[in-house]
Formats: sequence, structure tokens, C-alpha cells
Amino acid sequence: MNMRVSANDFVCQCCGACCKVPGYVRLTEADVEAMAGELGLTEEAFIEAYTELSPTRSGLVLKGDPAAPCCFLTAENLCRIHAARPQQCRDYPARWRSEAIESVCAAARLRRSGVGAATEQTD
Ligand code: SF4
Ligand code: SF4
Repeated sequence: MNMRVSANDFVCQCCGACCKVPGYVRLTEADVEAMAGELGLTEEAFIEAYTELSPTRSGLVLKGDPAAPCCFLTAENLCRIHAARPQQCRDYPARWRSEAIESVCAAARLRRSGVGAATEQTD
């Protein structure tokens, strides 16, 4: 696994737990453009294959059972499109404020305990 120093003050354990939390991954227009490019698809083809309207019809989310792991999570608990992952994923857990995060994320627990320099998956 390739690791590098991150601007975020946490050490990702690459456990994949945050990619298995029930819920939706919301997509911005920039996310769609980047993810389609990463997969070698047109934006139209990406939208058709991988997205659906959010339950509130306020935008696109990744397609699939919201209770199931993300479709881009590999068996090794890595993100298949890490270089082009959505902003919502980039912001986790550094910009998330939820009491539930520390029950899910080992990096968030370590961040609170002040452990280590920050690293993250680079591929
Ligand atoms: S897109 Fe990647 S980082 Fe985001 S939830 Fe899916 S597997 Fe995890
Ligand atoms: S951000 Fe947290 S939950 Fe997600 S892979 Fe890293 S350690 Fe696991």
C-alpha cells in the first residue's frame, strides 16, 4: 500500500469502515467529471451506470443499497477510484462532526488521542 503525508491531522488505518457506513455518497458536478474521467467514461455513461437521484431529489448520489458497502470499495478495503473520490469522502473524517464518527473510524479515535503523523492512501 502506498502512503503519504496528509494535510489532515489523522492517520487513516485503511480499514474501509467509513465506506461501509449506511447512508448516501452525494456527488457534485466536479465529482461526476473527475470520477467519469478516472473510469474512462463519458459523464453521461458514468451517471447512467453509477448514480441515481437522492431520496430528496436534490442531487445525485452513488447508486446502490445505502445499507451496503460502497460499490467502489475493494476486497482490500481500498477505494478503486481513490484519486478521484468524491469531496464527501475527501472530507471524512477531518470535516465531519458527529459523535458516531469515533465509533466507526479508528483514525478519528487516534486523532483525539494525538497519535502520529498523518498518512493516507495514494492509489
Ligand atoms: S467512493 Fe471510495 S472513498 Fe468514497 S465511499 Fe466509495 S470506496 Fe469509500
Ligand atoms: S477514514 Fe477512518 S473509517 Fe475510513 S478507512 Fe480511514 S480509519 Fe477507516
